[in-house]
Amino acid sequence: MSARIIPAPLFDLVIFGATGDLSRRKLLPGLFQRDRDGQLPEGARILGAARSKIGAEAFREQAAAALAEFAPESVQEPEALARFLRRLDYCPVDVTGEAGWSGLAATLAEHDDRVRVFYLAVGPGFFGPICERLAANGLAEGARLVVEKPLGHDLASARDLNNQIARVFDESRVYRIDHYLGKETVQNLMALRFANAMFEPLWNARHIDHVQITVAESGGIGGRGEYYDRAGAMRDMVQNHLLQLLCLTAMEPPARFEPDAVRDEKLKVLRALAPIEGREAMKFTARGQYRSRDAISSYWEDAGVRDSHTESFVALKTSIDTWRWSGTPFYLRTGKRLRARMSEIAVVFKEPPHSIFPPEAGMIGSNVLVIRLQPDEGVTLSMTVKEPGPGGMRLISAPLDMTFAGALGVTDLRLPDAYERLVLDVIRGDQTLFMRRDEVEAAWAWIDPILAASQAAPRPAPYDPGSAGPEDALRLMHQDGRRWREIEA
Ligand code: NAP
Repeated sequence: MSARIIPAPLFDLVIFGATGDLSRRKLLPGLFQRDRDGQLPEGARILGAARSKIGAEAFREQAAAALAEFAPESVQEPEALARFLRRLDYCPVDVTGEAGWSGLAATLAEHDDRVRVFYLAVGPGFFGPICERLAANGLAEGARLVVEKPLGHDLASARDLNNQIARVFDESRVYRIDHYLGKETVQNLMALRFANAMFEPLWNARHIDHVQITVAESGGIGGRGEYYDRAGAMRDMVQNHLLQLLCLTAMEPPARFEPDAVRDEKLKVLRALAPIEGREAMKFTARGQYRSRDAISSYWEDAGVRDSHTESFVALKTSIDTWRWSGTPFYLRTGKRLRARMSEIAVVFKEPPHSIFPPEAGMIGSNVLVIRLQPDEGVTLSMTVKEPGPGGMRLISAPLDMTFAGALGVTDLRLPDAYERLVLDVIRGDQTLFMRRDEVEAAWAWIDPILAASQAAPRPAPYDPGSAGPEDALRLMHQDGRRWREIEA
């Protein structure tokens, strides 16, 4: 297999929050992998910035420990590790005060002719203060800014955050990460749709019965109880990840695979989502909260609260008011502590209008195109075929499997982590896989009325940890004569 890799330009990447979890688990390991693959140019620097008053050497030790855990190759390849660690430097900066900025400015001034990226791996409350101080210290000119979710908790707060950023960075230099967009399969969805002629004529309400998007997690809320209990599944997952997946599935073909062409089409989908407001929310959404009978590993316990109306599961039915999609419902669901960790987009085609086969041949099922994000990234298309062997015509459903490693005949294919790809896209200046301001705000504008309605709704229905979610979620499908696909690893 040949890969045409565009080398990254020379850069200085500053990670605010470099001692935190995101940096340890994703950013440093991702950058290490790209360095191992020879994509980081000689002399490119990664500068950690955080509140801890540590020196560069201590930061490198922390980074090496993080790599040993999250990029174990680093232990086997001491030379690659040493080369990567040499790129690292550290500046203690309390971003809410004045101390530390001049040190950061002096380090950056050593090379002010290269691509400069500020990655804000800190809470959103720090975005505004960091932007202000970057500008005040003359560091923002020409630089790029990367921000992480949560991008607000409603439309008003998202606008406020975007305004704080826009005072210093114009939109062409802002990269809002939704790491789902960096997943290999998600990009393959675009290749599948727009690099093959066979799907486009079928990609509409005439041929597609419905679409199911599932992001199921088997884990609970981990140590994020305080944040999660304020957010819930709607804000934490639906507003960003699930709606982004929906956009890529439903958008019209952009004229070019270029940032604004793609993002314009996603925005049109968000603006065409049928509103779910007031009493309709009860009809089109189902909320749940995991609660075991013995109260052990219950949401309340995990969140450290004595009572809570926050949903750890949500399912909803929506539609897109366009000629292409009128009549095809989109069902979304996501939740914690479900039966398995599994994320997929399932495009369920309509059944053939008539069967020419005798009843004893068996049922003709729907063709289902499944774009699987995790585990085992890949694409399958279920087809009805004749069961091989004697005995007459017997129909069975069999998958055409395009699991990448198998289909491409490689056994050691390493699919890059989403962060790894996205950070390099920032350095290369490609915004295609990042959310634009108007997209984020359009998503919140659609979510806000659902959130408002859920304030007045009954508390979320309990569901057993390890199940497929609350009964209510089944109702959403059953009332339309459909059913959810199994949640299985
Ligand atoms: P974390 O583990 O709590 O780390 C926070 C980082 O911010 C630490 O490096 C901390 O530095 C630094 N910090 C805190 N106050 C500071 C200040 N006043 N000045 C300078 N630095 C300060 O958090 P995280 O999990 O990495 O998450 C960071 C952000 O990314 C959050 O908004 C989170 O929602 C988002 N996010 C995280 C993940 C993930 O996988 N972790 C995924 C998606 C989004 P010290 O340690 O030196 O105090």
